[in-house]
Amino acid sequence: MSVGPFLERLRRGPAILGDGAWGTMLFSRGLSTGDAPERVCLERPGLLTEIAGLYLAAGAEVVTTNTFGANPERLALHGLADRLEEICAAAVASVRKATGDRAWVSGSIGPTGSLLAPLGRLDPAVASAGFARQAAALAAAGADLLCVETMTDLAEAELAVRAARVAAPGLPVVATMSFEATRRGFFTVMGASPKQAAVRLAAAGADAVGANCGDGETMAGIVREFRAHGDLPVAVRPNAGLPTFVEGALVHPETPEAMAARVPELLEAGVRLLGGCCGTTPDHIRALRLAIDGRG
Ligand SMILES: [Zn+2]
Repeated sequence: MSVGPFLERLRRGPAILGDGAWGTMLFSRGLSTGDAPERVCLERPGLLTEIAGLYLAAGAEVVTTNTFGANPERLALHGLADRLEEICAAAVASVRKATGDRAWVSGSIGPTGSLLAPLGRLDPAVASAGFARQAAALAAAGADLLCVETMTDLAEAELAVRAARVAAPGLPVVATMSFEATRRGFFTVMGASPKQAAVRLAAAGADAVGANCGDGETMAGIVREFRAHGDLPVAVRPNAGLPTFVEGALVHPETPEAMAARVPELLEAGVRLLGGCCGTTPDHIRALRLAIDGRG
């Protein structure tokens, strides 16, 4: 699948269906908390091909790479920083092996996990260079687009979008942040609003903006705010409800049917790219597929 048709579809035609969670699928297949999910790219790429195949079969048109934490800061925690390029190459190849040209491969770029200076210690120039390295590696490996996701610090999200633009100039960039509903409206834990995100991520060069890793209840309202403050296509990937602890494990309780029931409102609000985040599985994506197609 090439880039032109992706941008075209973002703007018109039926909304694009993305995939669901990767962490959830990896944990259900033996990954433990504390393990670097990115190590799977090197050690068990076949598992990633299997998960990508399940999402493709469920009807996803965009499948994400297992590179959420493949930035130098996070990889360094696991002694893997010098293997960033190898990890990104294996992640893209393992998804492509399942999807061929039947889905767009989206290179995931998550936050560094460190606070940027002056609030924290991470030099923005260092963070930017790390995002550029990750974006370049994903592009070189053949990703069709990049998704900067689960951001809470707008300054960090801007850095990632700008770095991706420069390091992977041919690839569309979808940039989404993680918002929560508060009494004063929707905000990330770092205090960014959808309005600020709409304006600043567009200025940074994003091709689509929106929200991921939040409660599905909030998503239609967030889509409306993004649409009120910009004209870029809006993407959302809600979690399968609010997580609760069941016998020591984090469980997202929302059923595929409950998630799919929100699709008409999301489409009405103008969402152009819809998928799932934490707790969502191929069953959720299959239900979203039916709902988008009007068969739910
Ligand atoms: Zn999530």
